Formats: sequence, C-alpha cells, structure tokens
Amino acid sequence: MKKHNFSAGPCILPQEVFQKASQAVLDFNNSGLSILEISHRSKDFVDVMENARELALELLGLQGKGYKALFLQGGASTQFLMVAYNLLKGKAGYVNTGSWSDKAVKEAKLFGEVVELASSKDANFKYIPKGYDIPDGLDYVHMTSNNTIFGTQIKDFPTTDAPLICDMSSDIFSRVLDFSKFGLIYAGAQKNMGPAGTTLVVVREDILQEIGRKIPSMLDYKVHLSKGSMFNTPPVYSIYVSMLTMEWLKAKGGVAAIEEENEKKAKLIYSEIDLNPLFEGFAAKEDRSNMNATFNLTNDDLKETFETMLKEGGINGANGHRSVGGYRASIYNAMTMEGVGALVDIMSDLERKA
Ligand code: PMP
Repeated sequence: MKKHNFSAGPCILPQEVFQKASQAVLDFNNSGLSILEISHRSKDFVDVMENARELALELLGLQGKGYKALFLQGGASTQFLMVAYNLLKGKAGYVNTGSWSDKAVKEAKLFGEVVELASSKDANFKYIPKGYDIPDGLDYVHMTSNNTIFGTQIKDFPTTDAPLICDMSSDIFSRVLDFSKFGLIYAGAQKNMGPAGTTLVVVREDILQEIGRKIPSMLDYKVHLSKGSMFNTPPVYSIYVSMLTMEWLKAKGGVAAIEEENEKKAKLIYSEIDLNPLFEGFAAKEDRSNMNATFNLTNDDLKETFETMLKEGGINGANGHRSVGGYRASIYNAMTMEGVGALVDIMSDLERKA
C-alpha cells in the first residue's frame, strides 16, 4: 500500500517528480547516460543548474531585482554559520522562535555580538513573538519563517533597515510573500524543494560588502556567486530533482496556486483538531503553521489505539518531535487533500470509537 507521508523532512515530494527522477537515473535526456554519472561540467547539467537557479528566482518573483540563487551543500545548518561569516561585522539581531533559530544564534555568536530581539522560549516556542523593537545599527536581522518542530509560522515580517535574513527551510515556495523584503533567504531542499543534499540560497548581491575578515572559499557567498554555483562539484542529483519539483510547481500555477491548496489542507486538519474533543493543538492559534500541524491527544489512554489506526490507515511519520511530543502532520506542497483527508478520517473515527 502506498503510504501517506506526513514526515517533517525528508518528506513527501510529488509522485510525478519521483517518476521523472527515476527515469533520469536510468537514462538522462536520452543521452544514454545516467544523471548519476554525467559530468557536472556537461552542457546537460549546466542547463539544469541554470534552469534551477532561474526557476527559484521566478517562483519567488525576484527575477531582475538584483538577486541571485545558489545551490550549496552542508544543509541549512551550514547557512547558520555562513550568514554570520559573510555578514556579521559587529552586531546582528535574531528572533528566537524555535530550536533552529537557537542553533543559528549559537553559530552567529562565533563571529560577533548577537542581540536576541525576541524569544518565545519561555513557552516552549508555542507562539511567535510580536511587537518587539529592532534597534538601529544591526548588520542584519535573522528570522525563521516556519518552525518545523513547534508548528508555528511567522505571518507578518517587520520592515527593517538592516538586511532581513530568513531561514525558510520548511515553508519555501509554500505561500506568497513580498520576497524582495529579504536580503537573503535560505532553505534546505528536503521539504518543499527536493531531496536532501542541497540548500537553496537566494541573495541580493548588494548586501555582500567587504566584511574585513578572510573567509574560506567554500563558505564565501561571493566565491560561489562568481562561479555560478559551480565552485566545486555540486550535488547533481539533488539539484536535478529540485529543478523537477520547481517545474512541477510552476506548471501548477506557482506559489499563489499552491498557497490556496495549502490553506485548504491546513483548514481541514486544524478544524478537526479544534472540533474533535479528543485532540488539542500545540501552537497558539494565530501563529499556526500551514506546513506542520502539531497536536496531541487529550486522553493519553487512547495513544495505542490511535497509533494502531494510523498504522493500519497507511499514515507515515505523523509522530511529533521529541521536544514537543504528541503528533505532527507535515502537510508540505506535495501532500494532497486526499492524504490530509485520510488522516482526518482516522481522527474522527477515533472519536466515534472512543
Ligand atoms: N531550519 C529549519 C527551519 C529546519 O526545519 C531544519 C531541519 N530540516 C534546519 C534548519 C536544518 O536543516 P539541515 O538539516 O538541512 O541542516
């Protein structure tokens, strides 16, 4: 039985992408070669890289606005330090909305002063802090748009004088925002973009000024930009599958079209959480994520029954992160209404049975 995959990442990708990706492993573009064996310097792959970089900018509405896209390695975790290495001269502001923000802060502290602008750590990151001040004189402001573990999502971003840097690992390409508000956006591929192995970085080139420190080449955005994201051997397959996913999204109508679907899916699961007395949501309602819905049972005695029902219903990966417990349904772009419906049916069946 094909399962409904609610994993937080690596996670579901479109079936159509899996099919094209597996065909390319056998024979890429009728070249008689596998995508896994072609040179990254071959015209076929250079075309993939260029197409992927353009698609990323196009989907975000950033073409012709001074931005460049890179496909790097080392995961979003390497961006925690690359951002600071390249941009932190004196002081940077961080909004702490979860474990990933926390990790970004820890890395930034290796390079300069970090001002915690706001934090929701006091309530195990159940909510998104609002109404905080942003002082002058910061090199940049860093935020995490979607908190994968806690199931919260920033809805309104502040306007800042300093470049706004955002970790969009778990909601990239899922909703329309004015992306030109951001100086730099990064996202590990393995949620809405492709398989693990590459990280998208979209940067407005003018924010990369002289920083006054030597930066190792592999960690220097300017080096990667000057080489068109081909400074060293890129993760060819991961970028190829990311390109296929972006093509899939473009053909569906782009970010605006998927946002509409994502809202319907989120509404379906959250209304079950709110209406079914056996469940309660974890995150503050106004800050709920449209990508990761976190919830728990109101009666622990039903845990075994519920988990057996999930298993029998082909629901995969809906368990919560250990720091929150309970359940987390990750409903990324490729999750269908039917998939969410299957989970919701099980939740309402539980109410009927209990
Ligand atoms: N930021 C966020 C919001 C995440 O969800 C994750 C985990 N996938 C990371 C950063 C770390 O990503 P990676 O494993 O690619 O380093």
